[in-house]
Amino acid sequence: MKELKGKSEIRNSKSEIQIPPVTYDPALIESAVRRRVDAASDNDSAWIASYRAELDDIYDQPEYGREAAFAALDRRFFQRIGIPTVVDECLAEREASLAAASSVTIIAARSRAEEGVDVTRDGRMVLRCRPESFAPVEEFRANLRRELIQAADCFDPSFGHAPELLDNMMPSEKERIRAALSGMWASSAEGRLQTGEAGGRRTFPEMFDLCRAQLGSQAVAAGICDLCRFPSEDIIQVSELSPGVRAALKAEFPDLRDDSPVCVRCKERTETSQGETR
Ligand SMILES: [Zn+2]
Repeated sequence: MKELKGKSEIRNSKSEIQIPPVTYDPALIESAVRRRVDAASDNDSAWIASYRAELDDIYDQPEYGREAAFAALDRRFFQRIGIPTVVDECLAEREASLAAASSVTIIAARSRAEEGVDVTRDGRMVLRCRPESFAPVEEFRANLRRELIQAADCFDPSFGHAPELLDNMMPSEKERIRAALSGMWASSAEGRLQTGEAGGRRTFPEMFDLCRAQLGSQAVAAGICDLCRFPSEDIIQVSELSPGVRAALKAEFPDLRDDSPVCVRCKERTETSQGETR
């Protein structure tokens, strides 16, 4: 990401916010401008004509300078589309929290699912966005405002942002919890955006615990016990029991097979009753 720096920092001259200037992925800028040109209606004919005229001028130049000239042209038209202005306005709304960011980068997302904001432990803020999400611009602004509430959460110590809580989970469980957590967090941000209030905000660890209670492995039964018929997360097979417990159970339940699932509670009950009769 470092190589993007210097090439594509865009900050409106009027802007005096204390947040680092935004570094845009040049490929995202190019793709956004091309999309805008392709989608332009007759109302934009002057806009398109001036873009095409400048493009032709560049083709008349010597080849060695063209790449830089194309990039500069795209940057100017990207500003004319108004994206950097919207980004700066949205950042300014959250300046109190986001001034703590060490850098702000906007890169291309490959899918809608990939879109969103990340804040690294060293305070780098990375927004992932598809070029098609820049239009309509007011929709882009609404999504960005919600994402920046979440970014601001990350810079607020009382929120307790701790994505490492997910680190030691099983992959399938981790994905389930991550998806639920990001949905819960986004709707909390949306709620705060609508009401303008921060009241009742759940901390990151609180949301994590809620999602895990609903969807974590503890909440998902591993199987149904053949003896008590209750679902349990702690299931073992009859073949894994000690020979004494296995024999006692088979005497009591002749249909029990070696691969029958048995819950730990039933296993312990049998062990206890065995100990009593011995
Ligand atoms: Zn049982």
